[in-house]
Amino acid sequence: MAVVRCRLAFGATLWVNSQSLSWLRQDPGARLIESSQFVAIPTWVRYIVPSLYDRPMLIPKKSLGQNFLQDDNIARKIVKNLHVQRGDHLVEIGPGHGALTRHLRELTDELTVIEIDRRAVEVLRERWGSSLRIVHADVLQVSLTDLRRTMGGRLRVVGNIPYYITSEIVFWLFDQRAYVSDATLMVQWEVARRFIALPKTKEYGILSVFAQYYTKPRLLFKVSRNSFYPRPNVDSALVQFTFKSTLEDGNEELFRRVVRATFGKRRKTLRNGLRCMGLDEPALKKLAFDLTQRPEDLTYQEFLRLTSLVEPLMNSGREVSERSDERYISSQT
Ligand code: SAM
Repeated sequence: MAVVRCRLAFGATLWVNSQSLSWLRQDPGARLIESSQFVAIPTWVRYIVPSLYDRPMLIPKKSLGQNFLQDDNIARKIVKNLHVQRGDHLVEIGPGHGALTRHLRELTDELTVIEIDRRAVEVLRERWGSSLRIVHADVLQVSLTDLRRTMGGRLRVVGNIPYYITSEIVFWLFDQRAYVSDATLMVQWEVARRFIALPKTKEYGILSVFAQYYTKPRLLFKVSRNSFYPRPNVDSALVQFTFKSTLEDGNEELFRRVVRATFGKRRKTLRNGLRCMGLDEPALKKLAFDLTQRPEDLTYQEFLRLTSLVEPLMNSGREVSERSDERYISSQT
């Protein structure tokens, strides 16, 4: 690969590839003051100067949420917090050019990475060849059932994930929880606080209820926005979700509908939200539940209890409409 030697204003001399050079040229913080001509550098040199691999190799694409981790101490700290054991099957979401991947690879061969950006896939292939399982795809289209078939065991997920699809990724995990033992994800600080928020706080919402229903979420540590390139406008945090092996009894699908319907009318009473599910006032009066509360007052266990009370009303509602459908059909024949 062609690389160029350049000197930065504070005196450091770096060898970087052509893409990184254009990145440095755009970055006023780097204060690039000199660069020499391109030279070809043999692969073996990059082996003995591994720091060349540490330099960002891709021009970040905002549309893909590319804020690359550039602080290797944070990368090490994330990986240390995974406590990787022999036999663990790891799946990394969005490896980019491998800031976490290289530390994960030191601990296990049982690693699959899922990356949408073809350029990043090329960088990873160049570095690890076929020894790294790379799925070049949109993570939301990947089936963990298929991955588990290849890898075996329950999967441990990790990633500095693209923030623009944080909720989608988390729900993608919840939906495939049978195959996941835990997920350790870098997310925006505000979002991290929502996962662990308690009822009656301003951060508490749909994400809190679902995260606490499906998992035990833990906020591990905060990460400064300065640890990324390009620097985002907000800080981040590492959150670990440990998936519950069994869920409390209840109609999961209806539970999800109740939570969404009531939070859809946030700051309104539960009564308002339930009305949107087609429950009328006489039906609501039958509920032995304080419907003057707001959704942000309820723990997920209380939502489960509400769901169990709503369920027979929904069923009888369905019976009513089925009976009237039957009447309609018989009147037509
Ligand atoms: N792990 C790298 C790091 O820490 O430097 C990159 C993190 S960057 C915040 C997010 C990564 O997710 C990028 O590499 C981006 O290309 C990738 N990505 C974005 N959308 C994706 C998607 N839908 N499926 C898979 N990867 C995606």
